[in-house]
Amino acid sequence: MSSSPRIVIAGAGPAGVAVAARLAQRGRAGEILVLDRYHFPRDKPCGGGLTGHMDPAMAELGLRLRVPYVACPEAVVRFGGFERRIAMGKSVDVIRRGEFDADLVAQARELGVEVVEGEGIASYEHTEEGLRVHTSQGRVLTPDVLVGADGAASRVRKQLLFNKKATPHRLFMCELSVPAPAHLRNTMTYDFSLMSRGLRGYLWLFPAPEDRLNVGLMHYPNAGHALSGRALTELLAEGLEGYGVALPSAGVRGWPVWGYHPKTPISEARVVTVGDAAGIDGLTGEGIAIAMEQAIVAGDAIDEALRSGDYGFRSYRKRIRRATVGRELALDRWLAKLLYEGSRWQDWLALVLLDDKVLDMYARRVDGTEVLADQKLRLYSALWRHSLRRSRRLKTLRQHALASAPE
Ligand SMILES: Cc1cc2nc3c(=O)[nH]c(=O)nc-3n(C[C@H](O)[C@H](O)[C@H](O)COP(=O)(O)OP(=O)(O)OC[C@H]3O[C@@H](n4cnc5c(N)ncnc54)[C@H](O)[C@@H]3O)c2cc1C
Repeated sequence: MSSSPRIVIAGAGPAGVAVAARLAQRGRAGEILVLDRYHFPRDKPCGGGLTGHMDPAMAELGLRLRVPYVACPEAVVRFGGFERRIAMGKSVDVIRRGEFDADLVAQARELGVEVVEGEGIASYEHTEEGLRVHTSQGRVLTPDVLVGADGAASRVRKQLLFNKKATPHRLFMCELSVPAPAHLRNTMTYDFSLMSRGLRGYLWLFPAPEDRLNVGLMHYPNAGHALSGRALTELLAEGLEGYGVALPSAGVRGWPVWGYHPKTPISEARVVTVGDAAGIDGLTGEGIAIAMEQAIVAGDAIDEALRSGDYGFRSYRKRIRRATVGRELALDRWLAKLLYEGSRWQDWLALVLLDDKVLDMYARRVDGTEVLADQKLRLYSALWRHSLRRSRRLKTLRQHALASAPE
């Protein structure tokens, strides 16, 4: 690698590796330098569910799942005494991020991409000659393009948005070294019961490789429900009690993430962001598949810029917005606002849980066999059905809230 790579990618998580893989497919492996501030395998708080369009995105990028995983052919959705088991259209795999991400880095290297660990991006600046990127090791690089794939706490994003303040979503997780109880094995559990206690999100219990259990909470903050980290940890412990699972006193980690907004800038001249740096799915808090899908769009946009010499990336946000991934993110953002913001959450939860067709549609979104954004007519007819059955469903939901979770 020359001292001046044409493309510097900040972050070697799924987003960074996927952009590198896309550019390698375009014959540019030798022009890329990926920098990550940590050494792999590094810890990454995550449920590890490879939901959504993960399989087709990885296949398109030529990446493979080579680490241990638990295949989940079904999901369970709960609220108080309500429980619905849903067969997935195809199994959703659950991995451990430490090994998954380290193997992705290995795959990038196998493609001929240079990945440097333990060196991050400190800042970047625009000069008359182009871009200057400063690294944590004091190096100054002058690439044609900088990719911010540096996760939820992205430096690139901060600089792009001039450190604009925003309230993050919060995800709390803990991987428990306890055998997954028999009824939780090979099943992804999404439990909304804690919404009655102020949570704006859900509790998940996913079976992890080596018979472990990955548990956590997703919380979408809003003015009335800005729960503290401590309150969320207590809610997590409370939610797990219903499953006979004790939360250890140490090991719970909180993580702020920023939701995707179709109008928030995600690029500027010579700079693009991808993955969590560009914003996470506001409804589920998930983003591994999203990072890979965005990376395909980003890689193609970068390749075109390098060929044309036009580094404006003016249409990048629109390209992401119009791609399947952008349309799904925008729809999920809208659904998240309905479900988690405002006072009518019971109304919307009743629609999701008590209308089998809606629940099924959402399961297809989780297993990636359908594009929810293409199902708008079905969503509108579900809204119409709901307007007719609303009072009865609300009554049923409230009865379920009073009943305890089934063992
Ligand atoms: C608790 C929790 C549970 C989750 N569960 C799920 C789930 O089950 N399924 C799902 O799909 N998604 C889940 N997510 C979201 C998922 O983890 C992210 O969407 C995904 O990791 C995004 O990938 P990324 O490459 O954009 O970011 P990351 O995976 O965060 O990778 C960013 C990389 O950038 C590096 N970096 C940071 N700063 C710099 C810098 N200045 N210079 C260079 N490198 C830098 C980091 O070390 C890191 O390796 C969860 C998130 C959390 C917090």
